[in-house]
Amino acid sequence: MKGFAMLSLNQIGWIEKEKPQCGPLDALLRPIAVSPCTSDVHTVWEGALGDRHDMILGHEAVGEVTEVGALVRDFKPGDKVIVPAITPDWNSLEAQAGFSMHSGGMLAGWKFSNFKDGVFGEFFHVNDADGNLAHLPPAIDPAEAVMLSDMVPTGLHGSELADVQYGDSVLVVGIGPVGLMGVAGAALRGAGEIFAVGSRPVCAEAARSYGATDIINYRDGDIVSQVMDKTRGKGVDKAIIAGGDVDTFAEVIRVLKPGGRIGNVNYLGSGDYVKIPRVEWGCGMGHKTVAGGLMPGGRLRMEKLASLLVTGRLNVAPLLTHRFQGFEHIEKALLMMKDKPRDLIKPVVVL
Ligand code: NDP
Ligand code: ZN
Repeated sequence: MKGFAMLSLNQIGWIEKEKPQCGPLDALLRPIAVSPCTSDVHTVWEGALGDRHDMILGHEAVGEVTEVGALVRDFKPGDKVIVPAITPDWNSLEAQAGFSMHSGGMLAGWKFSNFKDGVFGEFFHVNDADGNLAHLPPAIDPAEAVMLSDMVPTGLHGSELADVQYGDSVLVVGIGPVGLMGVAGAALRGAGEIFAVGSRPVCAEAARSYGATDIINYRDGDIVSQVMDKTRGKGVDKAIIAGGDVDTFAEVIRVLKPGGRIGNVNYLGSGDYVKIPRVEWGCGMGHKTVAGGLMPGGRLRMEKLASLLVTGRLNVAPLLTHRFQGFEHIEKALLMMKDKPRDLIKPVVVL
């Protein structure tokens, strides 16, 4: 079969591979709609996971089941399904401890385009099909449903990690598709003021539509003074980080009130250390928590998040700025994610 792959660091291209094998608990799927992720960019061009050879990329997909293993109960060939980017081994001890995303080791619930071939192939393999696939509700457009694989669960997980409560003032650093879902998650959880940081006008407009009360352009000056001005020197209760780099934490710690919490979902692709400013961290006694997490993945979460789309509580259409038709456009869509044209939020490829 054909797939679009990371050939080695900084190299991408089409390759031929054997069709994957389907174990007794697994499923094989053909993609119906896929989307590239900024994480694919970190993987290929920053080498964030180390070197990978001839690994098919992609971890965001809606697909059609083509084959299931003998022990799969709830899915059959022909079913249309949402596929989470994170597909844990649900019988692992880590999953039993509540950390499904780390099943089998740190970040090991993330398998596609990390430890095994991803979804940019003619076929792809899903482990633990009953635990990881979710039936696609007919009311949801498959192109929009792709946002349920990763952008919606990751952004919303940022608001969970930050523990956003009613009336909290929340800073969201980064308003690409993940940060926008962070804004939406904060609003759904009842935040008061939401300060959203980004520079692309298309993202700023979308952030307002998802509930941001103020936009902060990090290119106009440092985030700290802009947030302090807007909060009359008080700072914010919570923060979600979905953009920036290892230095972003220092800025966010500075604007966080004592007792504040950071939910980081940004994938730090480079840099060796995250620095926490000592004084603004209360000399170690400020009760300022940094929580960083990969999103949990799995079927239940997909089904619950799909219900937000079906009931109209969340509309992901504003994320989809670029739609392509045909497998051959995967390369163009991935390069867009790398180059981030000013009018881009997220491209989707329908097959
Ligand atoms: P984008 O590149 O589309 O968005 C990044 C955002 O950060 C943009 O709004 C950008 O602003 C802003 N930004 C860039 N530099 C700075 C800076 N120095 N200070 C403040 N803001 C800055 O990324 P995505 O939304 O697609 O993804 C966000 C992150 O989430 C990525 O690192 C991705 O790998 C990660 N991720 C993590 C997952 C998880 O499970 N934890 C899953 C999926 C993704 P501008 O408007 O100028 O572009
Ligand atoms: Zn991703």
